[in-house]
Amino acid sequence: MMPPLSRRAFLEQSGLAMFAAGGLATLARPTQAAESPFKKAQIAITFDLEMSRMYPTREQMEWDYQKGNLNEATKAYSLKTAQIASEMGGQVHYFLVGQVLEQENVDWLKEIHTLGHSIGNHTYDHVYLLAKNRDDIQFRFKRAPWLIEGMEVDEVIRKNIHQTTVAMKERLGFGPDGFRTPGGFYTGLDGREDIQQMLLDEGFTWVSSKYPARGVYKPAETPIKDIFDELIATQAAAQPYVYPTGLIEIPMSPTGDVGAFRSGYWKLDSFLEYVELAVKWAIENKAMFDFLAHPSIMYVEDPEFQAVKLICDLVNKSNGQAEIVSLSKIAEQVK
Ligand SMILES: [Zn+2]
Repeated sequence: MMPPLSRRAFLEQSGLAMFAAGGLATLARPTQAAESPFKKAQIAITFDLEMSRMYPTREQMEWDYQKGNLNEATKAYSLKTAQIASEMGGQVHYFLVGQVLEQENVDWLKEIHTLGHSIGNHTYDHVYLLAKNRDDIQFRFKRAPWLIEGMEVDEVIRKNIHQTTVAMKERLGFGPDGFRTPGGFYTGLDGREDIQQMLLDEGFTWVSSKYPARGVYKPAETPIKDIFDELIATQAAAQPYVYPTGLIEIPMSPTGDVGAFRSGYWKLDSFLEYVELAVKWAIENKAMFDFLAHPSIMYVEDPEFQAVKLICDLVNKSNGQAEIVSLSKIAEQVK
């Protein structure tokens, strides 16, 4: 992880220094809004299917080595979310870690697919696409380096992505709907034409890799209202765009559940309040809000599925000003 930046440095790096000076009046009209490619707000609900360190209890760290070994509660929460979203006219876009396809039963994934929800590729072992050396690729390979013996870093990463696509086709009977990088990158894949091209070569037309937030948002240290303001200001930097190679970027919208619950120790009420503000910002600006969460975290923090219900509810009450869509649907409009 990158070290947290000061608020000032964060704002400058995210090109949002003007927001700091202009305050809320400036926030209401980000430059992005005028250029929105969308006819109405695009709301995505995305769930990354992997185990998360420090869940269900804070001392749990072994998941770093077994990201795809989903427990029963995580799988049940994932499926129930799909059912709730379907009942409320919504849509969920999942990204799975390929290792989960080694488990005995994958019927829950087939059911999610049958309900009409999307499932994308999140690499086989949750590898770090920007790794420069072998030790940075993933914890599993640091502990068991013989698994990648004789392979270059970029080969390991490409194979980890390719194997997931193959595994999905063989075990589920369908291929991935898009690709999301493990971990979000502050500047996405900007300047990494090599990785953009590798993803195009692997059959993807879009990637979800950008996560333009670096602050640690702790309500214990900063008033929650200030945190909300800063996060809403960041939404303009989390909008889709096209890379020079033609690959489309569909960013993750800060803050996701990791930033809120694991790093920030937020209460659920604050998280829900923030999600509502972010969806409303997207509606006002005909922009995108890409809700990022993990069932392995949400079954602990939001056992009643309140976040997903809230998002569906807000969109259903928007008088047609917003729609819940898959990231592929968003990418089609960005072309
Ligand atoms: Zn992940």
